Amino acid sequence: MTGRRFVGIICALISLVACSGSSGDLNGDRPASPVTASTVAVGSTLARIQARNNVIIGVKYDVPLFGLRDPATGTLSGFDIEISKMVAQALFPGKGDPLGHVQFVEALSKDREQFLQNGDVDLVISTYTITDARKLLVDFAGPYYIAGQDILAKREDIESGVIAGVGDLNGRKVCAVTGSTSLANLKAAAPKADTTVTKERYPDCFKALQAGQVDAMTTDDVILLGLEQSDLGRFQTTGNPFHSEPYGIGIPKGDTSLRALINGELQSAFTDGRWAAAFARTVGKVSKSVPNPPAISR
Ligand code: GLU
Repeated sequence: MTGRRFVGIICALISLVACSGSSGDLNGDRPASPVTASTVAVGSTLARIQARNNVIIGVKYDVPLFGLRDPATGTLSGFDIEISKMVAQALFPGKGDPLGHVQFVEALSKDREQFLQNGDVDLVISTYTITDARKLLVDFAGPYYIAGQDILAKREDIESGVIAGVGDLNGRKVCAVTGSTSLANLKAAAPKADTTVTKERYPDCFKALQAGQVDAMTTDDVILLGLEQSDLGRFQTTGNPFHSEPYGIGIPKGDTSLRALINGELQSAFTDGRWAAAFARTVGKVSKSVPNPPAISR
């Protein structure tokens, strides 16, 4: 048996997942195709993506460094957009610009599970923490990044130690975003914090902080890092995150082959340096350290 034929048979046996990235080369006489009718379960998200010839991905439009839309050009940028590109590459190998096969939709924190459950989107790549509660409703590929929840407050409050950790938020007004783990974690860790000011968008929490309507805001350190850049010097994080936030790619519940395909692509991007390069191009522009990629949960 020739090596090419052997690989072809293995691909057929284990489905497109492990072979999608190179199918064009291996089967030179056939066009590259990420999915074949024999390997895609009828009615699955993968089948819908294949039929549509594009993937609908829910991302943030207003979170610097992760998912930010330029209002002038409509262009999206950030680490979640880079991860979306990698996923599209795995879904549509050899089919030109991967972004040509992506339809982005804005997914606010509060909308993510519902969007996946309703089939409004195929995937959510939106600073989306993997949690047990969410796993009851949706599945996750990844993680592809581990953030940590921190606090952003006036520089003098941080430097003087008035706000040194989450316990110091008890009795203070703190803004968090609805539908986020940040709000739930805050309520658990500082039950006496005043959480009457909530917003649907992170920049709106930041505006409330800038206007002095709240004493602090809380969410993932990398989101805070992106926001504080626009008003450098006046606000600061504690640098002491109080909750681990592993970012996953949300997928509709039960879509195991889609999850395996995405995990395979993430693993290759971790190994071949694409993940680190994408991080350096986005979060790495302002973050002091480039982390190691996390271990994928299989
Ligand atoms: N990572 C947290 C979450 O998934 C906070 C960031 C966000 O709201 O997107 O809830």
